[in-house]
Amino acid sequence: MAGTELDDVMAALRARPVAEDWAEILAAQKAAQAAPPPPSLIPYPVFPYGLGSGLGGVARFECQRPGCGWAVEVNADVAPIEPLILPAGFTADDVSAALSERAGVRVETQRAELERAFREHLGEVHPEDGPGAAH
Ligand SMILES: [Zn+2]
Repeated sequence: MAGTELDDVMAALRARPVAEDWAEILAAQKAAQAAPPPPSLIPYPVFPYGLGSGLGGVARFECQRPGCGWAVEVNADVAPIEPLILPAGFTADDVSAALSERAGVRVETQRAELERAFREHLGEVHPEDGPGAAH
């Protein structure tokens, strides 16, 4: 019976003490303060095309040096879709975890590619700024 599973989940949620949630939140905050993210070469993207244009998924990352105009464009809509790998008898949690992992891998891959592109561009066109000068 479907109601039983939901009841089990609700019971598990209720059984979880609120203090545990707070402990997790505080630990995450502490970790975030202890390890600031490394400075990134990648500027915030702009979205130069309208959502209705068919190119709404295109993000443009522009070189921040005055008068440069160099940019990298990434179209999230044409990113390859890898198959989800799920265990036999998978649950909704497995699907959620697999989707999160795939999204995380994609974001990390894209970040690394953008950072390499910006590093190359800065080294070739703006070497006077030195490594890591862009923030
Ligand atoms: Zn530039």
